[in-house]
Amino acid sequence: MSGENDLDAVVVGAGFAGLYMLHRLRGLGLSVQVFEAGDGVGGTWYWNRYPGARCDVESMDYSYSFSDELQQEWTWTERYAAQPEILKYINHVADRFDLRRDIKFSTRVTSAVFDDARRRWTVQTDRGDRVSARFCIMATGCLSDAQVPDIKGRETFAGPWYHTGHWPHGGVDFTGQRVGIIGTGSSAIQSIPIIARQASQLVVFQRTPNYSMPAHNAALDPEYEQRVKAGYAEFRRQARESRIGFVVERSGDSALAAAPDEREREYEKRWRRGGLGFSAAYADILTSQEANDTAAEFFRKKIRAIVRDPDVAAALTPTDYPLGTKRLCVDTDYYATFNRDNVSLVDLRKTPIEAITPRGVRTTVAEYAVDSLVFATGFDAMTGALLKMDIRGRGGLALRDKWAAGPRTYLGLAVAGFPNLFTITGPGSPSVLSNMIVSIEQHVDWITDCLRELRAQDRQCIEATAEAEEAWVTHVNDVGHMTLYPRAKSWYMGANVPGKPRIFMPYIGGVGVYRQKCDEVAAAGYVGFTLS
Ligand code: FAD
Ligand code: NAP
Repeated sequence: MSGENDLDAVVVGAGFAGLYMLHRLRGLGLSVQVFEAGDGVGGTWYWNRYPGARCDVESMDYSYSFSDELQQEWTWTERYAAQPEILKYINHVADRFDLRRDIKFSTRVTSAVFDDARRRWTVQTDRGDRVSARFCIMATGCLSDAQVPDIKGRETFAGPWYHTGHWPHGGVDFTGQRVGIIGTGSSAIQSIPIIARQASQLVVFQRTPNYSMPAHNAALDPEYEQRVKAGYAEFRRQARESRIGFVVERSGDSALAAAPDEREREYEKRWRRGGLGFSAAYADILTSQEANDTAAEFFRKKIRAIVRDPDVAAALTPTDYPLGTKRLCVDTDYYATFNRDNVSLVDLRKTPIEAITPRGVRTTVAEYAVDSLVFATGFDAMTGALLKMDIRGRGGLALRDKWAAGPRTYLGLAVAGFPNLFTITGPGSPSVLSNMIVSIEQHVDWITDCLRELRAQDRQCIEATAEAEEAWVTHVNDVGHMTLYPRAKSWYMGANVPGKPRIFMPYIGGVGVYRQKCDEVAAAGYVGFTLS
């Protein structure tokens, strides 16, 4: 295009979203620069190298569908691929589609400012880049801004400490060490059983117990793989039209209408199958507290049956929020790990952390001496990575100010006042409630079609209208509040970050329904957007 640093598009992030976006934009013949903070591709799977990290959506589903050659030639080794294999896959994709040449690694975008007169974005990085682009596409990830809580004395700890989302590339050998881990979310639940096998002692600091399903991970059954590959097109179609981006056996019945023993059988069947999809056992598990109680009680019994010490079992048992309203975890031997002699649980609700000391962690009743400390404390989800950058739209409007009371988007894809800016799997889209790769591909395809259409109509700008945004935000809230989700202090609600507005951020209307809405918007000539 025009000047030296004038591009058609800048893409921020080189995870699943950024890579596929680059591939599609190249297909349109556009000039694109991708900036990525890490020194390699992979996003989540580049950063989260903690022991036990693996997907909780099955490998045959958790993979790109855009290239039939790719999905036919790639072979997963396990039902749930581990992080090294997923990272290998993403690297394979980057090589296969020759993506690296347009990615600048180890480069963090610090600001993106819209120039009203030129109708272009100026993007700047921490390495001194300054480029101008017509379109700015944020593929910065929903779970990429790791949070280390600001606990008093943190900087005084004498040993090494780690965050699961920034794990050292060479791995960490905890053999013979006393290890403390703070947090019991998905990352902790995956890593605790493995760290426990290495460490001489493991102390788990738990603020909120979680509901966790067994993964029943195993080598991928070659017959299953062949069956899926033979019908991959249909398999993917069903995933795209499903509620959560992969097909689970879903009942339309009420849990309350089922007889207790029938319900028990249904729950047991799903427990034995393992993985996500438990809450699809009945139609009202996520909308009726009473229905949810039946499922939660099933889990509580399981925990009591696995964990031998009744006090530890009680502490591990969630009681004050509905099942599924914090992300359901998927584990291998999590609860059973608490039967080991070298593992202890500290219930922070009874004895909160007062400080981190040079020796370890001090609660209101004791000091726990550890050699290493692991923060499995999660992320500033959905908005964190976006708001870390100084993003300014028309008239210098800062995204931080616009979203001061919580994120506001149209379709989770666009923001009024920020022309030609797109957010892949942004707040207000199904994103984190779904198989993310399905949601990523849908957004990328939609954006690609939109840019093609703008070009066909010889338009330079697309911007969500304030009215369409307002209506979408209201709809997202209304649908969210028809469920039990807002009852949990979850990261979906922003509750894990002190001071963050409490808004149910993702769209829970379902992946298939949402896709249809996005397609209707496009088919009607981008209704809710202004094209200029
Ligand atoms: P990311 O993979 O997060 O990539 C975003 C990239 O943007 C990062 O590499 C980051 O460095 C870069 N970036 C951010 N800000 C900037 C900036 N300012 N400048 C330059 N670069 C920047 N989802 C599922 O559907 N199934 C799963 O099983 C699953 N498992 C998960 C396990 C873990 C441990 C975690 C943390 C998440 C998991 N997720 C899962 C969600 C996962 O994040 C998505 O599936 C998917 O990988 C997201 O891809 P992405 O490209 O959108 O974002
Ligand atoms: P998370 O679910 O937010 O869990 C963070 C944990 O740290 C919670 O137990 C939290 O307690 C605790 N914590 C946070 N701040 C604390 C503090 N100041 N003091 C004590 N405890 C504190 O984060 P995550 O485990 O990294 O997972 C985030 C998301 O990533 C998941 O929900 C999932 O979507 C995805 N993920 C998926 C997998 C997978 O299985 N494929 C694995 C890892 C992650 P509270 O609950 O009380 O806030």
